[in-house]
Amino acid sequence: MAATVYYDKDADSALLATKKVAILGYGSQGHAHALNLKESGVDVIVGLREGSPSKAKAEAAGLKVLPTGEAVAASDIVMVLLPDTEQRHVFTSDIAPNLKSGASLAFAHGLNIHFDLIKPAADVDVWMIAPKGPGHLVRRTYEEGGGVPCLVAVAQDSTGKAKEIALAYAQAIGGGRAGILNTTFQEETETDLFGEQVVLCGGLVELIKNGFETLVEAGYQPESAYFETLHEVKLIVDLIYEGGIGAMHYSISDTAEYGDSTRGPRIVTKATKAEMKKILSEIQTGEFAREWISENDNGRPNFNRYRTETDAHPIEKVGAELRAMMPWISAGKTRPQDASGG
Ligand code: NAD
Ligand code: MG
Repeated sequence: MAATVYYDKDADSALLATKKVAILGYGSQGHAHALNLKESGVDVIVGLREGSPSKAKAEAAGLKVLPTGEAVAASDIVMVLLPDTEQRHVFTSDIAPNLKSGASLAFAHGLNIHFDLIKPAADVDVWMIAPKGPGHLVRRTYEEGGGVPCLVAVAQDSTGKAKEIALAYAQAIGGGRAGILNTTFQEETETDLFGEQVVLCGGLVELIKNGFETLVEAGYQPESAYFETLHEVKLIVDLIYEGGIGAMHYSISDTAEYGDSTRGPRIVTKATKAEMKKILSEIQTGEFAREWISENDNGRPNFNRYRTETDAHPIEKVGAELRAMMPWISAGKTRPQDASGG
């Protein structure tokens, strides 16, 4: 069955005209949602904890800032853009006691609702607009007149209007220009975790590190290894992103394509796919969520150790040196002249 995708024409911006929106948190997603909503003419306030270092930044951008509880009490839509591991604490202390009856409690990721870490009262709508891209792209594409595709899901429809309100919100942050895919909290949460663990982050990073190590251990220069196993990933992924695997094959040499088809399946094997299925089942049973929550409750000992180990990997050292010679790359540009302002 083909999925339903909504666009601007399916959204009614008038639904937000009489509503006040609180954005909780001013990080990657928070700053993008708040600024896009404001420029779409929506009445938005940013809710931050006392002493938040983000307060000055949000106010400098022309946004009204209130303490979290006051922002919730004043609003009809409360979008929770706090770290997933903090959300249930803030829900208990500041959101639940202040949330108006009939209000919308909104998320950009389904983890806390899907795994019952947050249990909202029955008299509120619970929905999700999850941009399928990092916050700075949600902001940049909106400013350029585009948008990042979003997922929409409704977990609780107390007013009977949850879906329509969610679509109006997605439109106001630019998502309706790119497409708003209908899904559920379960599907969004499980596929999001699977994607980042198996393909996008976990799988890709191990592929890069092991490829780099193999070349360096064989005596090749770390600089050569870096360009081959990390830098060029973006160039190949851009081709796949723009036109699919076939278009990437069309752009590379036949030699590269033959190597891809014959050697790739020796790297990602049937055993690898069996492990993917195991990881998916750890996600589906909630085992991963429980592990991650307890890691946080214990002060993140393993998380911090992994981070230190990654920072110390030789690919990070040679990469920092090489990227320093290509400053336009870190500025997100493709040409030196775009980064230097010249
Ligand atoms: P972030 O870490 O960039 O920002 C979180 C904000 O919350 C920061 O401003 C931080 O200072 C503030 N904060 C932290 N602890 C707090 C506390 N205890 N009380 C109040 N404020 C606190 O987070 P993010 O990446 O923007 O993620 C927000 C939500 O968006 C998450 O649910 C995440 O899964 C989802 N999401 C993120 C992305 C992404 O690319 N970053 C993409 C899609 C969805
Ligand atoms: Mg994701």
